[in-house]
Amino acid sequence: MSPQGAEHVDAAVARALDEVVVRRSRRRVRTVTAFREDGRTVVAIPARFTRTQEREWVVRMVTKLVAQERRRRPSDEKLAARAQTLSERYLDGRARPTSVAWVSNQGRRWGSCTPADGTIRISTRVQGMPTWVLDYVLLHELTHLLHAGHGPEFWAALGAYPRTERARGFLEGVAHATDAPAPDEDDEDDVGPRTEDAGGGSRGVEAATPVTSTTDADA
Ligand SMILES: [Zn+2]
Repeated sequence: MSPQGAEHVDAAVARALDEVVVRRSRRRVRTVTAFREDGRTVVAIPARFTRTQEREWVVRMVTKLVAQERRRRPSDEKLAARAQTLSERYLDGRARPTSVAWVSNQGRRWGSCTPADGTIRISTRVQGMPTWVLDYVLLHELTHLLHAGHGPEFWAALGAYPRTERARGFLEGVAHATDAPAPDEDDEDDVGPRTEDAGGGSRGVEAATPVTSTTDADA
């Protein structure tokens, strides 16, 4: 579709608008929702919308969705700063990584670390997940700088983070939704399952974090 009337559409928004799928629903009365599904952007609107309303709302909701995704994608610099904050808060500052970076070549691992040189890598698949899940993945790798394996000491240290169990459940759910095998607790340095197949992406996560607006409130 062509986003008429939107003069300052940025590149990410323009890309999403290019492949947007509009779904009209008779059951939908007052809300508009935008989400990612199978690599596409879907905007669900009430069936009663006119074409003009459709155009307005698609641009508005896709812009919101892209803004939300940006907020949830901190840069490497922010990631390193977050890691330092988490180390201080939950590990008495004892975990001091030399670098913390986003990487896209992790396969199905959520994160990995190399204790020998103090580097931590976090999968870009974690981008877009709730902050408390990212915090868990960071803390998991930070804790590996102190404890190599997944022994009782490792989990005792990580237990200081109150959302550990909840985050592990979240990640297992995502892994299940993307057809990965269950996480192998014996892996030395990774969070979550490890398989050869990097396909599937994070569509389950994307689909789980839509943005929704009530049309009556701000139309
Ligand atoms: Zn681990």
